[in-house]
Parts: sequence; structure tokens; C-alpha cells
Amino acid sequence: QDKDGAIEATLIPGDGIGPEITRAVVAVLEALGSPFAWDTQQGGLAGIEAHGDPLPGVTLDSIRRTRLALKGPLTTPVGGGFRSVNVRLREEFGLYANVRPAKTMVPGGRYEDIDLVIVRENVEGLYVAFEHYIPIDGDPHAVAISSGVNTRAGSRRILEFAFDYAARNGRRKVTVVHKANVLKALTGIFLETAKEVAPRYAGKVEWDDRIVDACAMQLVLDPWRFDVIVTTNLFGDILSDLAAGLIGGLGTAPGANIGADAAIFEAVHGSAPDIAGRGVANPLAMLLASALMLEHVGRGHLAARMRAAVAKTLNEDNIRTRDLGGTASTMEFAEAVIRHVRSEA
Ligand code: NAD
Repeated sequence: QDKDGAIEATLIPGDGIGPEITRAVVAVLEALGSPFAWDTQQGGLAGIEAHGDPLPGVTLDSIRRTRLALKGPLTTPVGGGFRSVNVRLREEFGLYANVRPAKTMVPGGRYEDIDLVIVRENVEGLYVAFEHYIPIDGDPHAVAISSGVNTRAGSRRILEFAFDYAARNGRRKVTVVHKANVLKALTGIFLETAKEVAPRYAGKVEWDDRIVDACAMQLVLDPWRFDVIVTTNLFGDILSDLAAGLIGGLGTAPGANIGADAAIFEAVHGSAPDIAGRGVANPLAMLLASALMLEHVGRGHLAARMRAAVAKTLNEDNIRTRDLGGTASTMEFAEAVIRHVRSEA
């Protein structure tokens, strides 16, 4: 934070619909009087064009300095030997927690009043991708083997994060999701560590545990019974998309990647090349990601004002983009949110 109270943050507009939705989000943040001073850098295809790398050194340097970024969706080129930019960012900055709130924004969907948060361990588990094949009888790929890695330290870190998050955000319960009945070592360590961590929050946050398959069924039958779910990498990846489905898909789902050294906020969806450049993309998911970023830097009051303005735009004015059944363009939606922000300032 500099002497004017501004907080320097890296802004990566991204690819496809990224620049369009970023423009809308920055306009809303300006109307709110947000504290962010942007250092705009490129990534994805835009990074390759500008610097020959989907994750250019200048972009990494910027995040190293600001430790805070808002990121549009990045297209990872298929072929060309480039590793996923998102995985590289996670590794580079130790972004061990992926937080995905799923909250109903538009009524009339399949489920009403969904309000749960999935906290996914982001750097361990089966996604370390220690994989190899064993050849048999001339078939080089006869057997495929993958090793997962969960550490007690990594489990403790994500579990403490989830319980702290629940306590800080007035959430009543944490559900620890695992498959300790079958993957006794890999996910047993996670459940064991939960049994050490949870009692420290007694009286503040309740907890229980679920086997992942039962959890998936209960999320569909009775999602209201859940509050905060914390789980290992692969299960968290799957369950957080399931949770996005409960609130009507990716268009309204934000995500935060949080580590000890940096935090990166983004929409859950991708660069939507099919609608890019037409000004019709929904900026809502990235807008809600920026609200998480405001909360992260202690500006919860601005996030609350933004969410109230968004709710009025969607549900009182009925101004929605096409993916939510409306006709508004990206900027028409943003301008309607800005009108509410200004009228309630
Ligand atoms: P996608 O999320 O880009 O698109 C899926 C569908 O949802 C498309 O029909 C798209 O038009 C629609 N959609 C997505 N966001 C929307 C929005 N804001 N408003 C309206 N409609 C929206 O998924 P995809 O097509 O599988 O991926 C496209 C590219 O995005 C790929 O290169 C992929 O690698 C990348 N991607 C990046 C991220 C990220 O940077 N975090 C995440 C997912 C995918």
C-alpha cells in the first residue's frame, strides 16, 4: 500500500473475452472508488504476442512485486510445448488454496438460495502428476501409473485456511471431504490432520466429514446442508464445478487462488473464443472475483456495495447478459451496475 492508500495490483486482461470483461470490471471498480492502482501486464496468447511466452517474465516480476493480481481467462495454446499457465502460476507463487464460493445470484434456476464455499487444496494430491507407463509385451503403454502426494504439512495448511475462512466469514460449519476408506494413505492423512485441526475451532466452527462419493450425491439432493467444504485437489476440482452447476453454470462463478506469497483472483470460466470480440460476454464472474479481491485487502464494505448493486441490476432492473437469458451487452450490464453504485454512494 502506498502513501495515498492505493494498493498496487497486477491486472492481466487475458485472451478472448478477457479484455472486454476486464474493461467492464475496471469501470465498476473505479465507480466504487476501489483502492487498486493497476499495473497492466499480458499473459496467455497476448503474452506470446508481446513477449514470446504465455507467462512473460515481466508479468511474473509484476506479481512478485504486487503479490496481488486480477486475471482474465488465459488461452493455453495446444501444442508448442507450453505448460498450462494456470498451473505455472500456482507453482510459482505457492497458491495452495483455491476458494470458490457458489451463491445463487439469479433466482428461477434449478436450485434456489445456494450459498456454499468450496476450498480446494491446489498444489498437492494427484495433480502433482507423477506419472509413468510400464511396457509389457511390446506395448509401451500397457500399464499407466500415477502417484499422488499429500503431506501432513500441506493438509494442515489448507485445513487451517478453511477453518479460519469459516470463522472469519461467519460460516457455521466445515465439511472435510475425503476417500479415506479406500485411499487410506493418500486421503487418510487429510482426515487424520482434520481431526487434529478441527478441535482448535470448537465453539466457533462445527465440522463433520464425508466420503467424496456420498458428498457428490448430497450436493445434488440437498446442497443446503453444506456450508464450507474443504477437500484435496482432484476432489475439489470436480466438486467445485458441480457447485458451479448448482448456481446455473460458469457465468457467475468467481475463484480465488491464495498462497503465502501472493493471491490471484479470476473468473472460473475460460476465454470463450466462440463469443469473443462481440461485446456480449457476461462480466459477472470476473466482477465477483474482484469483490473477493476487495475482501482480501480488507475492503469488505466495497465488496458488499458491489454485490448489492449487482443484485439490483440482475433482479430489480432485470438487466442481464444473453447467457442469463437477457439482451444486455457487457458494457450495458456494467453501466447499470455503476448507476446503482453511484446512487447508493
Ligand atoms: P469457456 O469457459 O471459455 O467456454 C465454455 C462456454 O461458456 C462457451 O460457450 C462460452 O461462450 C461460454 N462462456 C464462458 N464464459 C462466458 C461469459 N463470461 N459470458 C458468456 N458466456 C460465457 O471454456 P472452453 O471453451 O473450454 O475454453 C476456452 C479456452 O479458455 C481454452 O483455451 C481454455 O484453456 C481456456 N480456459 C482458461 C481458464 C483460465 O484462464 N482460468 C479456465 C478455463 C478455460
